[in-house]
Amino acid sequence: MVQPDDICPRHDRPRDVDAKAPTPMVQPIHTASVWHCDSPEQANRILDGIEPGYVYQRERHPNGDALAAKLCELHGAEWGEATGAGMAALAAVVLGLLQTDSRIVASSRLYGASLTLLRRESQRFGVRCEVADSCDLDGFERAIGEEASLVVVETISNPTLRIADLPRIAEAAHSAGAVLLVDNTFATPIFCRPLEHGADLVMESVSKMINGHSDVMLGFLGGADQLGKRLHETISLWGLNSPPFDCYLAARGLATLHLRMQRAAESAEKLAAWLREQAGVKHVDYPRLPGGTDFEIAERVLSGGGSMVAAHLDGGRDAADRFIAAVREQIPFAPSLGEVCTTLSHPATTSHRSMNESERRQLGFDSGTIRLSIGVESFECIRDAIQAGLASCR
Ligand SMILES: *Cc1c(COP(=O)(O)O)cnc(C)c1O
Repeated sequence: MVQPDDICPRHDRPRDVDAKAPTPMVQPIHTASVWHCDSPEQANRILDGIEPGYVYQRERHPNGDALAAKLCELHGAEWGEATGAGMAALAAVVLGLLQTDSRIVASSRLYGASLTLLRRESQRFGVRCEVADSCDLDGFERAIGEEASLVVVETISNPTLRIADLPRIAEAAHSAGAVLLVDNTFATPIFCRPLEHGADLVMESVSKMINGHSDVMLGFLGGADQLGKRLHETISLWGLNSPPFDCYLAARGLATLHLRMQRAAESAEKLAAWLREQAGVKHVDYPRLPGGTDFEIAERVLSGGGSMVAAHLDGGRDAADRFIAAVREQIPFAPSLGEVCTTLSHPATTSHRSMNESERRQLGFDSGTIRLSIGVESFECIRDAIQAGLASCR
């Protein structure tokens, strides 16, 4: 009788695709963690980047490369890499470019987790972080001062959708010898390409609009080749790399990004103008809204207003609660953004819950603020739902 030990699973080496055979329409998902190498010499050449190919998934893999190549093209980046989350892209910059006594200048309007990483986590390694309002340009330039290592801002900030004057901030960062990192998540490369405005590095939370279907956690980091070599090493060494299946899904989402964003921005702009006229609405934020705070900067930096709208309701928390309950079936309360369908968030109890009301007011919102992430439904559909929500606040 054949014994269990005699049945040894044989490894069948997958056959190479015949170069002359028709190629598949879509890139296959490569789940392999490791590749066959012909010789140690070849493995070395591949790992050194002299010969094309793959050795180990944490180093690089075809689905990550395919996604990164598309995003590099959209951003005009020489180098770019997918990371395991948006936060992993930010972590790579801190871990790869800074050391004890390095000085970060971060905008007070950054995504909450980004500020915590830059301030609290980085301090544990002796990195200093100064926080200042990137919309008070003179104050922000003073905070950058004469010497800094890293400056971090967001193109469009959450939740009041203020715009960073990227060319001016880049100039201040560079004269202080700092690298400027721009988190472009709310704008996407469809409406802003920060590298064209002087940024050294751009990051995206691919989990949001770029994937667009709320089923992926990924990030992207891109910039010049010169920083890329070092950052590639950091991403691999600290295990900040991306999973292939998520890259496959995100590449699929990315294929319709321009269509989704144009449609959403068109509705968002109409909605912002309409919302401004409604009873019970104190104030509306939308980039490139005529008469808006940053209109002039937005004209220079953005090629569209994006898909996010903030509505500040008159009745505070009570109005916000009633609004959210009334629209829940049409517009889900989902504290993220960038979905194909319209969703809403309540910053005071989600993204900005660690602040008190007076700190929130300083940033231009309060517990009556509703942040909308506009999707691809018809404008009328979105407006009708919001109209019903506003009626319930009265
Ligand atoms: C979500 C988000 C991040 C973090 O990205 P993850 O993919 O959740 O890690 C960073 N910046 C902004 C502006 C975000 O919205």
